[in-house]
Amino acid sequence: MYTDKFATKPGELKWSLEILPPTLGKTVDDVCATLDQLLEYHPIGIEVTYHQEKIVSKNENGMQIGYPLRRNPGTVPLCSYLKGYYHGKDDVEITPHLICGGFSIKECEEALIDLNVANIRTVLALRGDPQDLEKGFVPHPEGHHHASGLVEQIVNLNNGKYLFPIEDPTPTKFCIGVAGYPDKHYEAPNRDYDMQMLKNKVDKGADYIVTQMFFDTKNYFAFVEKARKVGIKIPIVPGIKPLDSKKQLTVLPRKFHIELPQELVEMTLSQDDAAVKQIGIEWAVAQCKELLYYGVPALHFYSMNKAAPIKEILKKLV
Ligand code: FAD
Repeated sequence: MYTDKFATKPGELKWSLEILPPTLGKTVDDVCATLDQLLEYHPIGIEVTYHQEKIVSKNENGMQIGYPLRRNPGTVPLCSYLKGYYHGKDDVEITPHLICGGFSIKECEEALIDLNVANIRTVLALRGDPQDLEKGFVPHPEGHHHASGLVEQIVNLNNGKYLFPIEDPTPTKFCIGVAGYPDKHYEAPNRDYDMQMLKNKVDKGADYIVTQMFFDTKNYFAFVEKARKVGIKIPIVPGIKPLDSKKQLTVLPRKFHIELPQELVEMTLSQDDAAVKQIGIEWAVAQCKELLYYGVPALHFYSMNKAAPIKEILKKLV
């Protein structure tokens, strides 16, 4: 189980990384170039995001038409490739994100079967973001409405229950991660409701939680405390993202529905991008040190495929 790799005592540094599959037209080499720079710090896990098709505008004979495009394709084959790439180099868990959005339940099962054949043992089960934020999430007509449905489906496979009953199947052994939101999921009416929905995913069979990025460490500790109070006992891995540019002061809250502490905003407002990058690294290091001091299963870094800031942070933690 991936969770067996987690830290067992405060101060023990275990860390994982989230990467994006290559942008359409780019190659796996670009992704590996990021990973190669961080390997010496021994990650316990690498997670690969999943991206639904988005309708983009395409010019055809002078007319703008909508065109469904996957800008970052290849999560499942990339995970299979990385599994081979890391074989023997380190004990790195390769974890694909699987989303409900855009997929029927049958297609979810097909993806899980492919992953099982590729010997992938951990999956992060997500609902996925809406195609268009304005319209909200629209499930596939034959798909799951919530991540909890996908968790249930994976648990069924772990119990040898396929959609089409097969004789004497070998049960899959997926370790299941789900998402949690210290700053609350943007659709949830309040934190208590959101926590109940998280508890529902755990009750269905999730093995660990990875949190959305947060910049106020107090929010993570409050989130964990609340989770323990409602009976969630599984590990809760904090998500860390170093602020990378001034633009992110507005982009991150808009895109990820998170809050930036006033102190961080004041520190960065009058600075240029190079200074903001440095402040972002220092802020993340302080967050990581506090989290490690009190004890966390692992630190999960949102890399956006940039190795340098993560490397700077890790240098200051080891
Ligand atoms: P859910 O758990 O289904 O929750 C969605 C909303 O519905 C919440 O408000 C919740 O409170 C509510 N809810 C849940 N269950 C029920 C229920 N049974 N009845 C009523 N309401 C319910 N997106 C991608 O597209 N690709 C990725 O690779 C990706 N990776 C991510 C990784 C992490 C660690 C995180 C934190 C997020 C990631 N996301 C990704 C974004 C994620 O898909 C969005 O935040 C999405 O809006 C919610 O996903 P979820 O799995 O938390 O959904």
